[in-house]
Amino acid sequence: MNYIDVILPLPLQKLFTYKINSAEVSFLQKGMRVVVPFGKTKVYTGIVYAVHQKAPIAYEAKEIHQILDKEPIITKEQLVHWQWISQYYMCSLGEVLRAALPSAFLLQSETKLSLNPDFADEKLLTDNEFLIFEALQHQPLLSIEKVSAILARKTVLPLIKCLLEKEAIFIHEVVYEKYTPKLVKYLRLAKKWENEAKLQILLDELSRAPKQREIVLRYFQTKATTKKPIGFTNFVKKNQFGYAVIKSLIDKGIFEYYTLQEDRIKTGKSTHQIPNLNTYQDKALQEIIANFKTNDICLLHGVTSSGKTEIYAHLIEDELNKGKQVLYLVPEIALTTQLINRLQLYFGDRISVFHSRYSMNERIEVWNNILANQSKAQLIIGARSSLFMPFQDLGLIIVDEEHEISYKQFDPAPRYHTRDTAIVLAKQVQAKLLMGTATPSIETYQNIKRQKYSLVELKYRFGKGQLPEVELVNLVETYRKKQMRGHFSERLLTLIQEALQNNEQVILFQNRRGYAPIVECTSCGISPQCPNCDVSLTYHKYKNDLRCHYCGFEAPMPIACPACHNPTLTTKGFGTQQLETEIQELFPEHKIGRMDFDTTRGKYDYHRIISSFQAQEIDILVGTQMLSKGLDFSNVSLVGVLNADTMLNFPDFRAHERSFQMLVQVSGRAGRSEKKGKVIIQTFNPYHQILQQVTLNEYDTMFKEQLLERLQFKYPPYYRIIKITLKHKDFNKVEKASEWLGQSLKNYFKEWVLGPTSPAIARVRNQYIKDIILKMPLNESIPATKIQLQKVKNHFQSISEYRSIRFNIDVDAY
Ligand code: ADP
Ligand code: ZN
Repeated sequence: MNYIDVILPLPLQKLFTYKINSAEVSFLQKGMRVVVPFGKTKVYTGIVYAVHQKAPIAYEAKEIHQILDKEPIITKEQLVHWQWISQYYMCSLGEVLRAALPSAFLLQSETKLSLNPDFADEKLLTDNEFLIFEALQHQPLLSIEKVSAILARKTVLPLIKCLLEKEAIFIHEVVYEKYTPKLVKYLRLAKKWENEAKLQILLDELSRAPKQREIVLRYFQTKATTKKPIGFTNFVKKNQFGYAVIKSLIDKGIFEYYTLQEDRIKTGKSTHQIPNLNTYQDKALQEIIANFKTNDICLLHGVTSSGKTEIYAHLIEDELNKGKQVLYLVPEIALTTQLINRLQLYFGDRISVFHSRYSMNERIEVWNNILANQSKAQLIIGARSSLFMPFQDLGLIIVDEEHEISYKQFDPAPRYHTRDTAIVLAKQVQAKLLMGTATPSIETYQNIKRQKYSLVELKYRFGKGQLPEVELVNLVETYRKKQMRGHFSERLLTLIQEALQNNEQVILFQNRRGYAPIVECTSCGISPQCPNCDVSLTYHKYKNDLRCHYCGFEAPMPIACPACHNPTLTTKGFGTQQLETEIQELFPEHKIGRMDFDTTRGKYDYHRIISSFQAQEIDILVGTQMLSKGLDFSNVSLVGVLNADTMLNFPDFRAHERSFQMLVQVSGRAGRSEKKGKVIIQTFNPYHQILQQVTLNEYDTMFKEQLLERLQFKYPPYYRIIKITLKHKDFNKVEKASEWLGQSLKNYFKEWVLGPTSPAIARVRNQYIKDIILKMPLNESIPATKIQLQKVKNHFQSISEYRSIRFNIDVDAY
């Protein structure tokens, strides 16, 4: 007997085994899709993971329903990589599958049956089969449940399979929806008129139909100027013929339609040479190439506007010339229009963009092009999910803006980090990997110190550009001296005025992020701090108290400021919208734009704002962290950060690192042309070490200080964090369950267990949340930790009371 192990798109820990017959065994390969029954009534599309002869021990293997592919659509390398993801991030292969495959590949039950109208041989059917056949004549679609009801029994799949084999029924389209290629309609002369010698006869024949005659002439003219097929719609539009005339020519058998398959996503031809590199860039490029000889992973640490993209372009070109594929990872594809436009100039139609906002069919097209190693899918640009594509011969992976947190997937599983998962992929397929950023993550930089990756630095901006000058404005002072108008210091307003007078543009940055408001004293500007940790406490409206997310410390909300005893404490917070209104009132003559989550929901919104800012139709652009992502505007001379404190006080162990990154990145938008740019950062705490480090552009100092704090408070890169989150709508249930879980984990992991604690937002979508954190020292075995954790999880889920509780594991949690 032959069997296959199948990955089902479900959070099941084990693969399921199915029986296959001898015809199927000669045909089936790893990576093909099969339709299989699951449970009593469900039908799923799954992926063949292994073909073998071992019957499952615990259950009787069922037969598969159908094979969907002629060739594997998933490569062996992908399956190896997915296996790693599933083990490392503690999720099922099915969950990886669901994240990886465009959903159209995996349509599942809701299974519906329909009648085959061509089926006539009713005598072939058994009594029960006939019952279903008859029911389908009255009702076009039957669910599997309904079939059970009609037959008054539970196992109906074998019977459905028989009906399928006898071709009496179909499984309704939805389950088996196939990718539909886009067909374009073309026009040509019917065969008998193709010969040019016949043209005169044809024209004579049409002498009494001048309109039709003209069309035929025009057709020959067009044909003479182009070798390409003549597109029907284009031809009609260009010549302003009516459709009816053409139709009559087709009816007469003079013209005919035909169709060709076409890609939905089009990229033009490349139009530009990759620019020559300057001395510094060329040196960096040569160093990268040299480093790749001994280490496959390299970081390019280059200041903003140093021209990292140009260096990538040269490396990409080399790989493409070798016939290799290149994957270019970006943090958020929607925010990358400028970059894609630039790469398209150089690489034209060799680029495929994999975009989550593309339609299902578009995504399948990209998948298939990569799988077939098509020339149009040599350079693949995409966000994190493009990591799952069926690459054929990957030579290079670029991880642009390596430090970006959107590289980490939060929900649902797999909760993977794109950069780390890409590094594993590169090693697996022996590709090179280049990370690039002006502000490396602490983890990556530590890996450089530990000599796991190589480092190349680029310290100068391209051209005559210099790094902008950063100036801190002390809000304590400006408020005291009444030098504020709304949220703007007079200093910032003066500089805005100047820039506008010089016809230069301004970017204003306010990162209104997160939900938990900060408590701030209206007088001294101090936010209450945790006594044990160097973080601000978060105000919890729910219980009117203050909490620390580092150590779990809690205190009631004070009545007065703990520092200056001023009785007025406010919850601070203003967003981009308020800023936009304020600045418009101050500069009524100027055009203000706003770029944040609310203004960029549509597919093209972001592009529209960027374009009009680039075209200088907008003078001042107000926005959130979206502004810090790789934008390149030559006319921006001033960047204003309205309040750096919210970021710095965010209760997260990465808050300082991220503030540094965000501020350096947003500052980097200023002064990208010859004139030196200016950055104003408003803050209540100008002596904060991070702000000093931003001002002096001291990455190394920042890195060293942050490392010390990470060591002291037991955080990455010295410790690994595995976060367990329980969720349920019943508060008492999660409370009790989390106590049980915390205790079970402590029995084994002792002091490495933190919590359970309620997160800052203790209830999301009516689900109460409890977190437990495992902080594992690097010398503890991670595989052993995970095995033990999985055991505890299994035990937890075997307790019937807890079974309905969501149990999420986030390895290397953020
Ligand atoms: P980074 O990604 O390092 O911030 P970019 O790659 O966006 O920098 O480069 C900044 C600007 O300088 C861009 O407008 C880019 O076109 C230009 N530039 C960089 N290198 C070159 C070069 N070698 N030749 C011409 N223009 C360049
Ligand atoms: Zn604390």
